[in-house]
Amino acid sequence: MRRLGLFATTCGLLALLLEGCGGVPSHTALSGRACLARLSAHDISYRPTDIGDPGDPHCAVDTAVKISRIHAALNQPATMSCALADRLDEFEREVVQPLALDELGSRATRIDHLGSYSCRRQNSRTAGRWSQHAQGQAIDISGFRLSDGATVSLARDWNAEHYDHMHLDIGPERLCSA
Ligand SMILES: [Zn+2]
Repeated sequence: MRRLGLFATTCGLLALLLEGCGGVPSHTALSGRACLARLSAHDISYRPTDIGDPGDPHCAVDTAVKISRIHAALNQPATMSCALADRLDEFEREVVQPLALDELGSRATRIDHLGSYSCRRQNSRTAGRWSQHAQGQAIDISGFRLSDGATVSLARDWNAEHYDHMHLDIGPERLCSA
């Protein structure tokens, strides 16, 4: 259990670094065909998707894709911007898989999430700033399943501060929190 907790905590911290918190430069977000080509080149299971008319101009998604698998499968398909899918791929390759192998001796075979695209303001309030979820620029990761069958739950194995998920986003503002 302690190792699962360490894994979850380290994943969370490295996710923040990857978002650019702490002054680490993040790579340029791609868009359109160049982005889709990168997903294909990295063998991500996706299909372009039409989010329709969200009814609010804050809820447009740049190059929307539906993702069912990065390398690890997602527990449920998720709609997000192509740029976020690209970043999720980087997060899996550079953070999740090396850590899972080093700390737990297994690969992550499934990424559990609570949702990505959602036309709403931060923390689902009726007023205030729009959430990065509104543009498909954020995903809430709740845990992982490993190749040995074990599961890492952020609710169980991480700390109380983020309770049940880690919010990974690629928005322009470095809030570095949920
Ligand atoms: Zn979130």
